Amino acid sequence: MADVVGEVRSSAGSANGDADDAGRRRPRRPALSPSRASDFKQCPLLYRFRAVDRLPEKPTRAQARGTVVHAVLERLFTLPAVRRVPDEARALLEPAWRELRDTRPELAGLFDDAADAEAELAEWLSSAGRLLDHYFGLEDPRRLEPEACELLVEAELASGVLLRGYIDRIDVAPTGEIRVVDYKTGTAPREIGEAKALFQMKFYALVLWRTRGVVPRQLRLMYLADRQSLAYAPDEGELRRFERTLEAVWQAILRAGRTGDFRPNPSRLCDWCDHKAFCPSFGGTPPEYPGWPDPSGLGVETALDRVD
Ligand code: SF4
Repeated sequence: MADVVGEVRSSAGSANGDADDAGRRRPRRPALSPSRASDFKQCPLLYRFRAVDRLPEKPTRAQARGTVVHAVLERLFTLPAVRRVPDEARALLEPAWRELRDTRPELAGLFDDAADAEAELAEWLSSAGRLLDHYFGLEDPRRLEPEACELLVEAELASGVLLRGYIDRIDVAPTGEIRVVDYKTGTAPREIGEAKALFQMKFYALVLWRTRGVVPRQLRLMYLADRQSLAYAPDEGELRRFERTLEAVWQAILRAGRTGDFRPNPSRLCDWCDHKAFCPSFGGTPPEYPGWPDPSGLGVETALDRVD
């Protein structure tokens, strides 16, 4: 049986550390996040570029739009139920964008360099508004009282592997049944992202099972771009197998980390890789292996990671 680590609201934790009893910052233990685990499974070299070399990636407008839409949906549920309507959600868009731009200055350039920055920003905001409209076509938030939104959860498996991730939303029925909800805002074809999305949802289901002792009744993926949702019911046997998969992934990461042997694994997903120029499969040469990094950063996921 796994040890329980628990969960904290996203605003209470930080990606880089926790406060101890005396209020001092201490680094977090290395952990496996769904994005990084999925990177390693997809392509060990991609994992190395992101988690070890930490090569910068150019943020895209689609990613920034996903982050803003997630922020709006989180805020929507802080409003009284009667106010959770499309106009109120759209009114939250611009403030959410301003806040994101202020905290992530690299995103300001997404529009500043455009020929007609104002018009492009307006069109981008209305495309975000359309995603919100699609959301309202999938469910009525006035009828829901989520237990939590943007929840940072952690669980330590019996093997010592620490899992860490952010859950978009958790709904808990009066009967105690748990539903995990994840909003997808990306434009990549759904069939490409679906396996990754299910991997991520099983990861959350496992963390909740190990921390609360209850297997979530439903994992719900809401694809806002194409107004579709997909529901999936995990079972204990499957989560047990998934747990073994994650433990094997973590051991493989540690092995590769010691030797520096992170191999490329080319696939259709290379079309979405920012690091082709360094990839031997595309004629590139990786930078010199910097060695295993400060482990406190290994499980870090950024907000942009979470908006496929
Ligand atoms: S281009 Fe493809 S094979 Fe190369 S690092 Fe990126 S995902 Fe891996």
